[in-house]
Amino acid sequence: MSQAIPTRLDKTARRTLVIEWSDGLSQELTFRQMRNACPCATCSEKQQGKEEEKATRSLNELPILSAAETLPLEIVSMKPVGNYGYNIQFSDGHSTGIYTLDLLRGME
Ligand SMILES: [Zn+2]
Repeated sequence: MSQAIPTRLDKTARRTLVIEWSDGLSQELTFRQMRNACPCATCSEKQQGKEEEKATRSLNELPILSAAETLPLEIVSMKPVGNYGYNIQFSDGHSTGIYTLDLLRGME
């Protein structure tokens, strides 16, 4: 198996997650970025809804942040799932997303 695996996961004070991989790559992702990339069914539906909303919104109307989006977000825990990913629990109570290694690697 040639897939790179995380050798180090570090939460920083800047609300980012630093991932170091076995092949030497290192990534820094914000908690918000991670939350937005949640692959669970609920979140992917929501993201699709947002896209549609964007398409129908008039040009003068600007997007507003929902209350949840303005709160500082934390990663509460990150648990390995099998040998292929991580289950991440966020401070907004959401914890159903499984972040596969492929998904994490593809984020920037
Ligand atoms: Zn989700």
